[in-house]
Amino acid sequence: MRSFPARATVDLAAIRANVQRLREYAGAAEVMSVVKADAYGHGLVPVARAAREAGASWLGVAQLSEALALRGAGDTGRLLAWLYAPGAGLADVVRADVDLSVPASWALAEVRAAAAEVGRPARVHLKVDTGMGRGGQFLPEWSALLHEAVVAQQEGLVEVVGVWSHLARADEVDHPSVRAQRDVFDEAVRLAEAAGAHLEVRHLANSAATLTEPAVHYDLVRPGLATYGLSPLPGTEPSRLGLRPAMRLEARLALVKRAPAGQGVSYGHTYTTRTDTQLAVVPLGYGDGVPRHASNAAEVQVGGHRYRIAGRVCMDQLVLDIGEASAVAGDRVVLFGPGDDGEPTAAEWAEAVGTINYEIVTRVGARVPREYLG
Ligand SMILES: *Cc1c(COP(=O)(O)O)cnc(C)c1O
Repeated sequence: MRSFPARATVDLAAIRANVQRLREYAGAAEVMSVVKADAYGHGLVPVARAAREAGASWLGVAQLSEALALRGAGDTGRLLAWLYAPGAGLADVVRADVDLSVPASWALAEVRAAAAEVGRPARVHLKVDTGMGRGGQFLPEWSALLHEAVVAQQEGLVEVVGVWSHLARADEVDHPSVRAQRDVFDEAVRLAEAAGAHLEVRHLANSAATLTEPAVHYDLVRPGLATYGLSPLPGTEPSRLGLRPAMRLEARLALVKRAPAGQGVSYGHTYTTRTDTQLAVVPLGYGDGVPRHASNAAEVQVGGHRYRIAGRVCMDQLVLDIGEASAVAGDRVVLFGPGDDGEPTAAEWAEAVGTINYEIVTRVGARVPREYLG
């Protein structure tokens, strides 16, 4: 915290412990640690290494660029990438030995062309939409995709190693949609095997389903959020799941000064001091991923006390009304962390801002240095 007065510390020992815990939940299924979006803001390469050390036999990313970054950093394990648009240039990804999701016929055609160019078969996971209403094919169109994939396999251009899908409502424990999606998934797998696919992995479970629904673990589970020690189940603390939050966002106060009663604070003067007081300037703002919706809403911790943000969050800074606290410029302010020293958690920030804990950690900006512990 010298040239930049804030940092996100990431506890890699917590990441490893969380992955180990998730392996226990997974039982006989393998674990794919999902490290998309810069590992939910925690840092792609260090998190990927920690996850591998803790026994994640697979890694999962959304973008091809993320998969190539992992290969560039020396990761050689099984790795799935699932999001791309036509013309992405799949040859580099096939050459890098990355498994690819195939959500549609156009994607299969591009994978075939890439495999032909590289001169070796591409491993693909066919994506079925079992009810999420997002990626993959719905069951009526599934057989056509299967047929094309099996033809490509016979040509030696692809190996259909996986069938996969994603759950819409696994965070609502025992929600009937989970069973309904499982039934569709079972049918999709049956059709794939009947068409001649020899599946290595069938996978459906995100963090919530990994933690609560063994019936959908199949051969592989894909926890993202829980890897970072955050709970996907609203109202359930991470500690109750055996998880520990890995990220702490902290800064050093850039200024503490006296202000009179009746002083408007920050843009628009949406906060006014009630008494003679002290204002403290925190050098983090929406340019660093602090949501502007946190204005007058979220709390931070200084010197063991919590203060609600006073007035609007600006691009680079926000302000606290700290009363007669003895804080001085340079003192540490914690925006969120695991919560065991009384600091707010990412879940509390999410609640204050009207979003989910996923977004609070993932949006921490590239400008904020990450420091790794453990
Ligand atoms: C992000 C993502 C996951 C991980 O979800 P969590 O809720 O963070 O566990 C798993 N599968 C797919 C397809 C995803 O996009």
